[in-house]
Amino acid sequence: MNIRRLVKPNIRGLKAYRAEEIPCRVKLDANESPYGFSVLRSVRINRYPDPEAKTLRGLVAREFRVKPENILHGNGSDELIYNLIATFGGPTAYPVPTFSMYGILSQALNETGIEIPLDEKFDLDTERFLGVIKKRKPKLIFLSSPNNPTGNRFSSDRIWKIIKASKGMVVVDEAYQPFSGRNEFLPLLGKYGNLIVLRTLSKIGLAGLRVGFMMAGADIINEVNKVRLPFNLNSLSQHVAVAALRNRERMRSYIRSVVSERKRLFKEMKKTEGIEPYPSQANFILFRIRGNAGSVSANRNAADRIYEGLLHKGILVRNMKGIFDGCLRVTIGTPRENTAFLKALRQLL
Ligand code: PMP
Repeated sequence: MNIRRLVKPNIRGLKAYRAEEIPCRVKLDANESPYGFSVLRSVRINRYPDPEAKTLRGLVAREFRVKPENILHGNGSDELIYNLIATFGGPTAYPVPTFSMYGILSQALNETGIEIPLDEKFDLDTERFLGVIKKRKPKLIFLSSPNNPTGNRFSSDRIWKIIKASKGMVVVDEAYQPFSGRNEFLPLLGKYGNLIVLRTLSKIGLAGLRVGFMMAGADIINEVNKVRLPFNLNSLSQHVAVAALRNRERMRSYIRSVVSERKRLFKEMKKTEGIEPYPSQANFILFRIRGNAGSVSANRNAADRIYEGLLHKGILVRNMKGIFDGCLRVTIGTPRENTAFLKALRQLL
């Protein structure tokens, strides 16, 4: 696939900023302070961070079994979503409801975002997607799988159909992949020239660091790299992310605990009258509150009431009002937090 043809003309002619790193004894080239203090041993914060995040990308490459040249680092994956839209432009297309930043950033960058409703099982409506691909030729399609806020993974065959039909880029956003276990897109990066996979460290214990990754063919990485700010990933974040990735066993055990708690919470919620939880492959559960009258407005009011009631007891969940009326979304916490949530919810119902 000829990637350059898809890139916005102003980006096509652009050369990436190069922050050269020349080994030296006395470093006086970058207007840094010579007086530093180390917050963590070996992190010199008087110096600019490694613009290429080489150590981190090397570790991620090994972890995901891709080459470092197929990885671009972001200040969170939402920065990479921004960079992707800045590189390829619009129209963009995505199912709804989904992660709101696809729409917000499209609008912020003055590009049209095409919303395609999910089907009744929260899966991709392939027919509508194929229609949009044919008629409106989106430059970028964003598919969050597992999807936020519904929690389900989209059917693989539907995603592949969209990747094959699209003449633009298809971004499979796997922010919640660690909780779903399936890893089928990364191994096929080389086979599909328009496939981009997004991952983040935010959901597995490191949200405060702001570290995300985009994996794609080297030609795509080179284009998107032109719009990336040179020092987008600060030294502390790089350092801590490297330390965390070297201590993967601990992260894996946290993920296992979230997954087993998700199963327990789902089972308990399923037994609870007055709500309907939706199966999730992510680190949260979306659930519908049934109002006594059963009407849409009764459900909406009941969801507001439960939301407020939980908050009154000190438990904050997400009210999906306006995105998924009548629904709330609860993130999986520690076993104690989950039990407290369940107890409060049952009292309120
Ligand atoms: N993608 C999805 C689907 C998300 O839900 C989120 C966070 N809510 C992100 C990306 C952004 O993650 P990050 O913290 O890496 O910017």
